[in-house]
Amino acid sequence: MAANLADFGIKEALSELGVKDINEGSSTGSNSFSNGELIESYSPVDGKLIAKVKATTQADYNKVMDAATSAFKDWRTMPAPQRGEIVRQFGDKLREKKEALGKLVSYEMGKSYQEGLGEVQEMIDICDFAVGLSRQLHGLTMHSERPGHRMYEQYHPMGVVGIISAFNFPVAVWAWNTALAWVCGDVCVWKPSEKTPLCGIACQNIAAEVFKANGLPEGISNLINGDHKVGGMMSKDKRMPLLSATGSIRMGKSVAQEVAGRLGKSLLELGGNNAIIVTPDADIKMTVIGAVFGAVGTAGQRCTSTRRLIIHESIYDKVKDAVVKAYGQLRIGNPLDENNHVGPIIDKDAVKMYQAALDKVVEEGGNVVVEGGVLSGEGYESGCYVKPAIAEAKNDYEIVQHETFAPVLYLIKYSGDVHDALALQNGVGQGLSSAIMTNNLREAEAFLSVEGSDCGISNVNIGTSGAEIGGAFGGEKDTGGGRESGSDAWKVYMRRQTNTINYTDDLPLAQGIKFDL
Ligand code: NAD
Repeated sequence: MAANLADFGIKEALSELGVKDINEGSSTGSNSFSNGELIESYSPVDGKLIAKVKATTQADYNKVMDAATSAFKDWRTMPAPQRGEIVRQFGDKLREKKEALGKLVSYEMGKSYQEGLGEVQEMIDICDFAVGLSRQLHGLTMHSERPGHRMYEQYHPMGVVGIISAFNFPVAVWAWNTALAWVCGDVCVWKPSEKTPLCGIACQNIAAEVFKANGLPEGISNLINGDHKVGGMMSKDKRMPLLSATGSIRMGKSVAQEVAGRLGKSLLELGGNNAIIVTPDADIKMTVIGAVFGAVGTAGQRCTSTRRLIIHESIYDKVKDAVVKAYGQLRIGNPLDENNHVGPIIDKDAVKMYQAALDKVVEEGGNVVVEGGVLSGEGYESGCYVKPAIAEAKNDYEIVQHETFAPVLYLIKYSGDVHDALALQNGVGQGLSSAIMTNNLREAEAFLSVEGSDCGISNVNIGTSGAEIGGAFGGEKDTGGGRESGSDAWKVYMRRQTNTINYTDDLPLAQGIKFDL
């Protein structure tokens, strides 16, 4: 398995995307100004240094915020459908660069090339969605209780929207936020994960090209780079009325407190601990496909990855055997090679967390049914390739209650009815994605009812992993309560204003109060 740049056209992709050996970090389009330390981006695919990015200092950050604030003054006055036209052009540019960007996502993050392309397709889809939305930012009108008065509500842009994103969706999450924010009239400042800074540079270059070609201020799209310290600059910044943050629960708690402390708004998309309930009426073949894809897709590094299979005791052994058999067919290797199913995990720290989780589940009494382990030898030189593992466990084990961002699947047995399964499913801190596999209408409806799943995403006969951009995406409880992408998620990016207009020559006061002036 050769993980050679030349074999997969990575060098060409980097050059097409304008990613150099050393890249500016803080950037509003071509106006780059970075002075911070160098962040090195290593590929988990072959362990090689891809390029370096200059991090953002506080002084750089202030310059970016000045550019963004100034760009907002122009951008907010452009009619929304015209802003939609710019987003349409951005979507077209992404279509042109889809292969190059998909390759960079795969090489820098480690997901399969196919998933990298899928991620770019999600960016294109959200652009299409946002273009339509740019003509539908509707408010409501309502009847006034006063004669000769008209009342309505309208939505205005908020200003500078901050975006903090995680490594595992290094480009799509930014686009989910930014395409909506742009049509809403906001400008964006994005801090990608310090583990995938080059994806940020590439996206910023694409956006900057579009704004420049239209003679618009490049400060509509801004990029900053660095770790939690740079994220902290955003959390504290009163000039940023909305901060959308995607990542771990630990990060979300810190961001939420900082932003609430300055009475700003935060949109939080945090960790999940997603389960599939498998009832006696489940289609076993569909269950196995959904469970295996959900647990090992993106090497278990999706926020919606399947972590727990909650299986009825009457079919437990049958499902277990089928899933274990399917794991035996998985091919682990270079994600740019489409013959492989599972690529590397992001870095050696993630490998340590994976190993610690497998040790912990055994320590707590779990039974490993598919052995894990770190692969070594030819093709696995980066040290980031791990075997997807399965352990039988109990829902209340400490390790099961936590999200381990790696391909570890827990099998949990339930007895009783669907409500007993739901008690287990809901019995974790997180509330992102959930699924039930059943052909029984009563079970499916119970799962979706008010007493059913407490997650933001609840699927019937589909796994937990992935989501269409047309629906609002996000989760409850420790997942943070945020919603982005489709449906009416756009409203988060705007401020609502209620307007009352008096078209009479009289000014009746409320509560019958009279001022005889
Ligand atoms: P992470 O929390 O380590 O980092 C995410 C981002 O937050 C990075 O850009 C990081 O620099 C920044 N950050 C970290 N601490 C911060 C702080 N105190 N203040 C401001 N910024 C800070 O997460 P990760 O390892 O990159 O990503 C994996 C996690 O993200 C998983 O928990 C996964 O479930 C979650 N995730 C959730 C969603 C969702 O939509 N719910 C989507 C993708 C990933």
